[in-house]
Amino acid sequence: MTNIEKNIKIKETYAATMLKRTSQICRVFTCKVQYNHLNKQQRQQLKMMFVEAKWMYNYILNLSQDNNNDIFKLKYTDLNNITHLDKDKNIVNVSLQYLSSQMKQSVLDGIFSNIRGLAKAREAGLKVGKLNFISEYTSINLKQANVSYKIISKNRIKIQGIKKPLRVNGLEQILSLSDYDLANAKLINKYGDYYVAITVYTNKENKNKPTEIIGIDLGCQTSVTLSDGRKFNCRVEESEYCKNLRRKISRCKKGSNNRYRLKKKYRKSNAKSINRKNDFARQLNHILKNYIVVMQDEQLQQWSRYRHGKAIQQGILGRIKSLLKNNENTIVLSKWFPSTKLCSCCGEKVEMKLHERVFVCPKCGYMEDRDIHAAKNMVWFYKNIPYAEHIQDFAEIKNQLDVIFPSVFLS
Ligand SMILES: [Zn+2]
Repeated sequence: MTNIEKNIKIKETYAATMLKRTSQICRVFTCKVQYNHLNKQQRQQLKMMFVEAKWMYNYILNLSQDNNNDIFKLKYTDLNNITHLDKDKNIVNVSLQYLSSQMKQSVLDGIFSNIRGLAKAREAGLKVGKLNFISEYTSINLKQANVSYKIISKNRIKIQGIKKPLRVNGLEQILSLSDYDLANAKLINKYGDYYVAITVYTNKENKNKPTEIIGIDLGCQTSVTLSDGRKFNCRVEESEYCKNLRRKISRCKKGSNNRYRLKKKYRKSNAKSINRKNDFARQLNHILKNYIVVMQDEQLQQWSRYRHGKAIQQGILGRIKSLLKNNENTIVLSKWFPSTKLCSCCGEKVEMKLHERVFVCPKCGYMEDRDIHAAKNMVWFYKNIPYAEHIQDFAEIKNQLDVIFPSVFLS
């Protein structure tokens, strides 16, 4: 086969795959490598892959800073022998022996796409810096299923470049699916543990669209309140151990080895609470799957700056928001809707202070828990104001409310 024929064939296969993907959903399964079951050689190989990837990344970055080099012309085969700096900043020549050719290619692709991304952002007028040298490479792309990686059994996976298969937890999640396509995977080094995150495509289930509407209010006192009165709280407090570590880090000299070591330790022990937050967000997302969800685009960033500080940092509102926003049945209302202030019975605007937890309408006497009231109002806006989800400015909202409650609201 000539090169041209080969290229045409690759293009055709790619197009066919893309067509297939439109009827599929993408899921990622992360499996933890059982480090204590690895032999000495495997541990060394895993470790060195990430070290070599880091060397390679920094080496290419260094080349790119010299204007005489066009790094986009680089091929991974040019990168068998590279240089890196040792502890004392001396230049050392090394030949890469742990990274497979596909891994080298993916490190190269990664840095290309980073540079292109920055260039695009700059074109769009954003203020961008330049790429920095890295002290850790954390994710190696395993491009091709059954080549760069291969699932051997329900707890073994083979990685290109590592002789014996690795023992992992969690593969049965994939193997128990009735029908799936393996896409790429990522070998991840996170807080000193190793994971393989496998991307899988499965066929879309033909589910009926939900019809029931539910409002959701995100707040600091209670994390999540639904318009049907359910409340969910997730406060993951920082452990004493973590607090201590943080104090120690702040006392360490910047850039010192000790600080680096402590930071690594901190990230690892903090990972548990991060996992708990993620878990909470996912469970909530699962509950909300059966509803059309109405939420408000509140500005979390401003909250954290002015009013609630740490409560938000430790909270999970951001996670919930981003999960919900990806859901096709979520309706996001503009932040200008007066969901807390409006009495939707009589149209009265009730000013409320932050600490007041119960909504009481002085005009008609309507009373309700503050958060539940806000969540109910979101549903009310969606049902009663035409095209509510498309309205962005306050004047228009006021006009619409004036129609429903003539000369009451904001009068
Ligand atoms: Zn009222």
